[in-house]
Amino acid sequence: MTRILIVEDEEHLATGLKFNLEAEGYAAEVEDSGEKALARLTSEPNGVDLVLLDVMLPGLDGFEVVRRLREAGRFVPVMMLTARGQAEDILKGFELGADDYLPKPFDLSILYARIESLLRRQAWLRRPSGAALEGAAEGRAADAKDAGPAEYAFGQITLDFTRQLLVRRGYEQSLTLMEATLLRYLVRHEGRPVSRKALLEEVWGVRQDTDTRTIDNFVARLRRYIEDEPSKPRHLQTVRGVGYRFVKAPE
Ligand code: CA
Repeated sequence: MTRILIVEDEEHLATGLKFNLEAEGYAAEVEDSGEKALARLTSEPNGVDLVLLDVMLPGLDGFEVVRRLREAGRFVPVMMLTARGQAEDILKGFELGADDYLPKPFDLSILYARIESLLRRQAWLRRPSGAALEGAAEGRAADAKDAGPAEYAFGQITLDFTRQLLVRRGYEQSLTLMEATLLRYLVRHEGRPVSRKALLEEVWGVRQDTDTRTIDNFVARLRRYIEDEPSKPRHLQTVRGVGYRFVKAPE
């Protein structure tokens, strides 16, 4: 059973969510502060499969919780619940390591779909090559029949998608679910340009309200991980007017 931790200080919202998630077949628990959530998630690293994290919390807010969680090396999938849904909030959440976001108020059916999409992404990463990213883009991921290799090496870097790990010259870097999914997608299309639109649909799972700058921010982060000179990328190239291209062995 999928275990979901709800981090929400408004009691009636938290109780309602817990009730509905349990009715839907999930195990759900609530923490009413960022501090408590952080303490729990760092002390029981495998106790939770997914976190629904409200941004507006007294004390440590949701942004600070996700930042500290990633800093502590905890890479559980995190969906931010944002009251504002403003582009800068969304970008900030992704920048700090969130895997998805949902503006409040939301329909429960959309919440369930997003939870399943996050869990599928993780399952896709953990599956050996040949597995499909089923339904990740509401069934539109027609090209995603093959997940690509579970491990991949280029230059000084080895990617272990199953463990969400990047190893560069012996130094290990954990990846968020979204970082790992994006890298695996780019690697699978090695040598070919991929558009921002395709990335939005097939990696993010279609979010018309997602600003494409989200992708550019992620790419900037991935470049810091994989490029010797992130400002002069060789592996993760910009294709003007289109998007990006991953090149395994640049000239
Ligand atoms: Ca709140």
